[in-house]
Amino acid sequence: MTILGSSSALPTSDRYPTAQVLNMPGRLFLIDCGEGTQIQLRRLKIGFGRIKHIFISHLHGDHYYGLIGLISTLNLLGLKTDIHIYSPSELKELIQPQLNFIKGETKINLIFHPLNFKRKEKIYSDKRVEVFSFPVKHSISTCGFLFKETEKQPNIIKAVIPQYNIPIAKIKEIKAGAGFITENGETIPNSKLTTPPPQPRSYAFCTDTAYHEPIAEIVKDVDLLYHEATFIEELRDFATKTKHSTATDAARIAKLANVKKLIIGHFSARYNDASVFVNEAQTVFKNTVAAKEGKTYKI
Ligand SMILES: [Zn+2]
Ligand SMILES: [Zn+2]
Repeated sequence: MTILGSSSALPTSDRYPTAQVLNMPGRLFLIDCGEGTQIQLRRLKIGFGRIKHIFISHLHGDHYYGLIGLISTLNLLGLKTDIHIYSPSELKELIQPQLNFIKGETKINLIFHPLNFKRKEKIYSDKRVEVFSFPVKHSISTCGFLFKETEKQPNIIKAVIPQYNIPIAKIKEIKAGAGFITENGETIPNSKLTTPPPQPRSYAFCTDTAYHEPIAEIVKDVDLLYHEATFIEELRDFATKTKHSTATDAARIAKLANVKKLIIGHFSARYNDASVFVNEAQTVFKNTVAAKEGKTYKI
């Protein structure tokens, strides 16, 4: 997961508004698209022609003002492709008037998928990954996103194929859990033929949101959680009023959800140094880091 922008509503000279790219095998998912997203993609040499799915959490400008610029560039590059946008339903009417003024024929085909703000919902799946949206608690309708690799099949131990003379046609069954009967009638249990698959990995994105405990249930045990931390505790009243979280709030959710690692971001422009957020969060949840433009976090 690569951070393109870690700022809240006001960008600073070294922080861009929210945007991230999640690189799962063969797929690039763009999560939020704040102003400057396409410049960050260029700077980081991320081939944005590969982005076919864009997830927009909510319609505050710092989360989607980069979209029209990105679409316009893709169009100028002559890309002829479908792009799926998962967002609040109103995005289409907001962006359509601008699309109408793009010169010539638009070759990008935008397909809008409205988000559900009432409950968790599966919004995308293919054979390797599932994506869910879930409501969070902000001043307007907002969703978080959960990306999960699908369960993988066990790996067959290569040496057993010649050892027991296993025909290729049987391998699919064995991977699905079957044992094998040899030519001499000996039954070999599945456990002797396969090794367990790697654990499926997961990533959750939660911004913008106030402290909201139901999130912890949904993001339970994820490998990596991005949770906003716009303020620190000294501005608790302001966080409550604007429906944002403090670094402590983010850490409490991470702890409650038993996640492996927490990344905090969406920092208020009034703080130059993100270490104040990290120091505060680490008093509750040790494995916390601050989001940083251009940095990639392995899951
Ligand atoms: Zn925001
Ligand atoms: Zn917001």
